[in-house]
Amino acid sequence: MLEKASFLKHELKEKLRKLILVNMGIRAYDPKFRKTNLASPLTVQVQTIDRCNASCIMCPYSSLEKTGPPNIMEEDLYARILNELEGVRTLRSFTLMLQNEPLLDTRIAERVRDAQKTFTHNVLVNIVTNGALLTGEVAEVFAHHATWLRISIDGWDGPSYAEYRGVKNDEFTKVINNIRDFKRLGGKCHAGASIIVDRTNAEHVSELIAILRETGINSAKVSPCIVSNSGKENNEYHEPIFAIVKAQIAKAKANFEAEDFEIFDSFHTQLETFEKDYTWCPYLQILPVIAADLNVYACHDKAYNLEEGLLGSIKDARFRDFWLGGKDKFFRINPSVHCRHHCVVEPKNKLILDYFTADKAHLDFV
Ligand code: SF4
Repeated sequence: MLEKASFLKHELKEKLRKLILVNMGIRAYDPKFRKTNLASPLTVQVQTIDRCNASCIMCPYSSLEKTGPPNIMEEDLYARILNELEGVRTLRSFTLMLQNEPLLDTRIAERVRDAQKTFTHNVLVNIVTNGALLTGEVAEVFAHHATWLRISIDGWDGPSYAEYRGVKNDEFTKVINNIRDFKRLGGKCHAGASIIVDRTNAEHVSELIAILRETGINSAKVSPCIVSNSGKENNEYHEPIFAIVKAQIAKAKANFEAEDFEIFDSFHTQLETFEKDYTWCPYLQILPVIAADLNVYACHDKAYNLEEGLLGSIKDARFRDFWLGGKDKFFRINPSVHCRHHCVVEPKNKLILDYFTADKAHLDFV
């Protein structure tokens, strides 16, 4: 109970801080003159290795697509990025994951420790993983140095998990045991599961949440699988299972939700269309991603999209020089043309764009 109360207090404080930072960020933009004075992003996702140990059926970035030796971010470059982000102090959240399994990087524990050591102001250091390698020193370091850890999961037993991920039948039990052992380590890290639901696991959501609850994990979030770049097709796909999933979530909430275990219902219908009617994306200055190819991309969705997602490279430049050198790169992507697909930050982008189009006097009144 105390643990949850202090976590909520921390969350509230963080939300407030983020609000102020985002507000500063928004105020720093000048879309009319196509420039920003935002000294650096507010949140960053970093990929230190470009490989995964699974090939999930719902993931477009399957490990099978990558051949040859993996790109692994060099230690010096990683340290430089941390120091530069620390120097400008706008950063609020630092997540080690981008279309990969970050724990395949053998230095991942050190990277988390280094991030915590470098950021002297309040920056969340986070990991998203499938949990297969969450053992030993890595688990120990995350438990005590990471802010939150999210484990993606979909299968509800050995065979279903193996089918989803292209792994062996015993992998599910291994992952569940890893989560249980991780929670037993104590530490301040908030661990949550992210359950992506499609027609196969729709009737097993409550069963999976029951298993997760028993591990001691802090939360479980349920979201729909994005099966198409068309909103209408997504809705049509989920329509036959919509009521089933909602009933499963309600059942799980009734049986398992508690002070120390939150079930977050993010299972909703998609927009009818993914078309955008705006021509610039504010969020790419808030949450860009740095990939292991040392390119900076607009967002998670645009990673490795050299034609429509690339902002620039830090291969031969400091992050700060890349960021402040020329503002046109922030306005090259036109969402009405280049982003006619699912975009996770669309509601936030719309809020920011509303802010810019609102009458200034009215804003002050509000
Ligand atoms: S997909 Fe969304 S976040 Fe990414 S560039 Fe397009 S509008 Fe921006």
